[in-house]
Amino acid sequence: MIKKLFKRVFGKAPRTRVEGKCHIIPFEVHDVGRSGISPAARKVTEGLQAAGYKAFVVGGAVRDLLLNRHPKDFDIATDATPEEVRRVFRRSRIIGRRFRLVHVMFGEETVETATFRRMIETEDAQTDEHGRLLRDNEFGDQEQDAARRDFTANALFYDPSSQEIYDYHNGYADIRANTLRMIGDPAVRYREDPVRMLRAVRLSAKLGMKLDAATAAPIAGMKGLLGNVPQARLLDEMLKLLLSGHASECVKKLRAMDLHHGMLPMLDVILEQPQGEKFVMLALENTDQRIREDKSVSPAFLFAALLWHEVLSDWKAQQDAGEKPVAALHAAMDAVLGRQREQLAIPHRHDAIMKEIWLLQPRFEQRGGQRPLRLLALPRFRAAYDFLLLRCESGEVDGELGLWWDEFQDATDERRAEMLMPDEVPKKRRRRRKQAGAAVQKELPIE
Ligand code: ATP
Ligand code: MG
Repeated sequence: MIKKLFKRVFGKAPRTRVEGKCHIIPFEVHDVGRSGISPAARKVTEGLQAAGYKAFVVGGAVRDLLLNRHPKDFDIATDATPEEVRRVFRRSRIIGRRFRLVHVMFGEETVETATFRRMIETEDAQTDEHGRLLRDNEFGDQEQDAARRDFTANALFYDPSSQEIYDYHNGYADIRANTLRMIGDPAVRYREDPVRMLRAVRLSAKLGMKLDAATAAPIAGMKGLLGNVPQARLLDEMLKLLLSGHASECVKKLRAMDLHHGMLPMLDVILEQPQGEKFVMLALENTDQRIREDKSVSPAFLFAALLWHEVLSDWKAQQDAGEKPVAALHAAMDAVLGRQREQLAIPHRHDAIMKEIWLLQPRFEQRGGQRPLRLLALPRFRAAYDFLLLRCESGEVDGELGLWWDEFQDATDERRAEMLMPDEVPKKRRRRRKQAGAAVQKELPIE
């Protein structure tokens, strides 16, 4: 429409022009207006340009706008050094040691501003023995900054002032063709940074883009390289995947590509057991749904779900070996968390919540006396109850239990009294309690 209008007024619509290796695509072709850019990001590009520097919105945000999606955040790339950026914006600070970035603050918004970087040439690049790139933080020019990025769709620069897109790798055409394509030789790029394999799967699932055949092909043979990636980074990427709002899609994609082994250490074991698999997929779909509805999701809940069936089978084994139920559950939790930590370092700070969610599960079975009321009053009840519903839905426990708790939560006192089941404490214990004069019955302890 705009193209036609422009044509009518000026006779000819502006066309993409080529400068060196760069295609500069005008607004009339791509149709992304500056109104799609956040006010703070616009202030940063305008401020830098007014001071004589180049400045663009870059990466995921440009890609998302072209795909008609709402960008998560707006990153800026510039030829100004971090110190020069600092000088332009009073409210800004330099962060990071390895990659020095500038955070520019406008009101509530913080805009990450990075100086153009270049990839270090293969000959003089510092790589580890597996070819992994250890340094890519040398400053460079815009063209070099495009080349060091992962996918063509992620390497577009948008200038809010001129509303032009700068494209060095045919990313615009790839986005229009819905294709995710690695820049350069995919095998080399995966060797430099194996996490790009996970990014390929995550982004193609999240954006509904197909992976270009040459980009997908080397992954199966190279996934083992993920073993050399520092744990913290792997966990970071795994969380991005799980909290992307498309976790179930990502996992399905991993399986379709036969990558669910060795890529995500945690899923390896779980997806092999039919009931475990159903439970995990339900938990992921549930998380995706919550994210789409802008509800909070806790990584601890998700980790608790991913590991539940391992805990279950350990718990059973401990009981079969003669351990009492609660002690067996404690032992199972510690064993599973210990094993898991060897593969993927789930931060210790999640342990307490995961354990609480697990430990509360057997207590849902106790529906006599005051116990349900005490359970209901616990701060972690809601998370544990959501967890119980997943167990019901996956067929692990009878759906009746979930329904009972659903009703009990909102029931009147009279109805609750009716619902409570006759106390099921074994006779022997009851007699002992009576003797000891215990008035109150104890529930299963949390810790
Ligand atoms: P998301 O929407 O999930 O944030 P994104 O593409 O913006 O996706 P970021 O992790 O925010 O992902 O990275 C921002 C940009 O940095 C990417 O668009 C890409 O250009 C570049 N990038 C990120 N990770 C890598 C990598 N491992 N190798 C090369 N370039 C990368
Ligand atoms: Mg991003």
